[in-house]
Amino acid sequence: MSKWLFFTTDEIKPLGWLRRQLEIQAEGLSGNLDKMWRDVRDSAWIGGDAEGWERVPYWLDGFIPLAYLLENEDMINRAKKYIYDIISFQKADGWICPCTDEERKEYDTWAVLLISKVLTVYYECSKDEKIPPVIHSMLKNYYDLLSSGEIKLFNWGEYRWFEGFIAINFLWKRQPESWLRELAEILKNQGADYEKAAHLWERPLNRWRFDTHIVNLGMMLKSEAVSYSLLNEEYTDKAERLHALLEKYNSTPVGLFTGDECLSGLSPIQGTELCAVVEQMYSYEILFAETGDKKWAERLEKLAFNALPATISDDMWTHQYVQMSNQIACQKFPGKSLFRTNGPEAHLFGLEPNFGCCTANFNQGWPKFALSAFMYNENTVINTVPVPCELNADGKKIRLETEYPFRNTFRYFIEADEDFIFVIRIPSFAKDIKVNGENVSTDGLSFEIAKGEKREISVSFETEIRFEKRPYGLNFVSKGSLVFSVPVKHEKIMHEYVKDNVERRFPYCDYELVPVSDWNYAYVNSQPEAIEREADRIPFSSENPPVVIKAEVRKIDWGFEDGYDTVCAKLPLSTEAISEKEEILLYPYGCAKLRMTELPIVE
Ligand SMILES: [Zn+2]
Repeated sequence: MSKWLFFTTDEIKPLGWLRRQLEIQAEGLSGNLDKMWRDVRDSAWIGGDAEGWERVPYWLDGFIPLAYLLENEDMINRAKKYIYDIISFQKADGWICPCTDEERKEYDTWAVLLISKVLTVYYECSKDEKIPPVIHSMLKNYYDLLSSGEIKLFNWGEYRWFEGFIAINFLWKRQPESWLRELAEILKNQGADYEKAAHLWERPLNRWRFDTHIVNLGMMLKSEAVSYSLLNEEYTDKAERLHALLEKYNSTPVGLFTGDECLSGLSPIQGTELCAVVEQMYSYEILFAETGDKKWAERLEKLAFNALPATISDDMWTHQYVQMSNQIACQKFPGKSLFRTNGPEAHLFGLEPNFGCCTANFNQGWPKFALSAFMYNENTVINTVPVPCELNADGKKIRLETEYPFRNTFRYFIEADEDFIFVIRIPSFAKDIKVNGENVSTDGLSFEIAKGEKREISVSFETEIRFEKRPYGLNFVSKGSLVFSVPVKHEKIMHEYVKDNVERRFPYCDYELVPVSDWNYAYVNSQPEAIEREADRIPFSSENPPVVIKAEVRKIDWGFEDGYDTVCAKLPLSTEAISEKEEILLYPYGCAKLRMTELPIVE
């Protein structure tokens, strides 16, 4: 039994900076992909001749909740048209994916798992009662084909078997039929066991593998949480064990694991794929809902406030395939790629740098995060992540006004048509917590709200600026959930071109970022100071961050990675200072498109 349940798009409405972020997303690539990207516009899923596997479902997985959260009628109609076109091609036996009967054996049924999840998302948003029978017949057909041995899991389906559990659990809750549990067992038995592969995570391999693949690993973290109940298993917090191993050998300052595109160790110049950012976020949302363990919510907000905005442009028209924590340039490598298995353009901002999966998949990041702001269970509501939004569900109204994570003050306006308990999750790094001006000492707050009551609750806390240790004697600066970096000033070089019939044209062109300021710094061990600035129209503005940190730095001899003149060396040549102290303004990692995040400290 889940600890917490999710609200739906008609119950949660984004406000403030979160609403602006979603509007920028709708005006950018997410809201327009069906108009200009062949793999969605002409997809085989809707009767066209372009890709008919993961790209349309990936896009819909974010586009649908985005459309409903913003109550954008045009987007809702376009989402509905896609869904209705897709289900119009469903075969009489229930099969829904675009391939012939003969091709089913070779068709990687990762797409079956994915579209089943997307149809569930669409139902949760639309309450369209045409959808549950479609999910029922497609999963029953999947069960028939798997249980008879006509098809089996392989490749992506084998490594993403648990993704089908979102829809299986959805059907089970509506009508528990025994074949659903059998399907769950078949998927687990034919699916990959990541614990067996965990020894491979201890050192990077220059070889592409499914079991070190960064997106698979981001998804995998939720596997036990979505499956144990239906499989009648004990919950063992497998996610924590696997997370600890991944973190020990492949961590980054912003809570990602390096993967370009498979696990890549602890170096600050290896990358992480954008698909992994949004899949890891979705896993953490489910892990928090299932367990109520606040560590997952803290990890979730760290990704959302750092890794996600860092790797997408301010206008949300372009993105990187991989981001690095020490990223002094985003320029195409003329020769061999720095990345282990990605090409030489994977860190450019563009339409589909390196590969187009993230182009379709990144869309789910912000909308699903917004939907995780509040959760509920029986007569209790919890504020999971304190971002500005309004909840209106079953006679409980809560409006949260805040500029968190840029400020640490929160005003809750509550109205109740029935008694309920309201819980506020307080992060472990919060200091000096105040409720309505009074000091409280707690790691969580709980309020009894009475029927008919109108109440305002003000909460505030302090967050300290900290130097946190990284491998190889490096350090990064954090304040609460925000990580800070030395920003590197840059010029943008625009590239408009056509490759493989895919057009790159402004605003969905490619950009190289060329550094024009120094980046070879070390921190001086003195107390930095936060400076709050007027918020920009763009929440994580790369030009106008809403908060910066004044810190002291000195130049050191850092050098370039062997064979490259656009990548800083993994480690500096020397940590002897070669200049006097100077003051510098650190930007939030999510605002600094070029940055140095992991630095040594000098005296
Ligand atoms: Zn991707």
